[in-house]
Amino acid sequence: MVSRLQFFKRLDLNPTELILKKIEIAKDMYNNWQEVFYKDDKFLSLLKKYEFSVLKSNQIMGEKGTFEECYICTVLENKGCCKVGLENEATITILLLNMFLKKDIPEEREVPGRCFFVGPLGCKIFARPYLCREFFCKRILDKLSQKDYAIVTQYINEELTLLYLITNYIKNLLEFLIGEFLLELDLTGYS
Ligand code: SF4
Ligand code: SF4
Repeated sequence: MVSRLQFFKRLDLNPTELILKKIEIAKDMYNNWQEVFYKDDKFLSLLKKYEFSVLKSNQIMGEKGTFEECYICTVLENKGCCKVGLENEATITILLLNMFLKKDIPEEREVPGRCFFVGPLGCKIFARPYLCREFFCKRILDKLSQKDYAIVTQYINEELTLLYLITNYIKNLLEFLIGEFLLELDLTGYS
């Protein structure tokens, strides 16, 4: 396992190669260990809570208009903050989490110059990295009242706490199964 993760030490990987390598490793681990995870009640309960929390924060952000603002910014105005390279904020555990939730992971960069996960309507992955969920640009902050900002933040906090718990659970269980420290699973690989 250690040798398969040595790519993190190579500084010559471009962002696309890096995310493709991380996806390949996540797929491999998913195929090897999915049965163990799907039999683990604690994991399944966390998975359900996390999925619900994402749906809930998406619903709140939809109601408060932040998604619409990002759609206008990204798709209509061709601006947006989902730049090329940011895909690597997705760690192997976050990629695995999407797989455990049976969510599709894109296999190629659809929009040149943008994050690997950007599609015509915005982000295509369900379980998103911390940075993507906690970042609020000035445009979004100006749109939200203080009260709405507090409400959105509360739901995002809940989601990110669960993201932390479940990605740690995945890493710890894999370390137990494989018998090695797997710190690389939680690294972005480019910083
Ligand atoms: S967060 Fe701000 S910069 Fe990023 S897409 Fe939304 S409106 Fe645009
Ligand atoms: S929100 Fe999605 S598309 Fe945007 S940077 Fe994050 S992972 Fe990439």
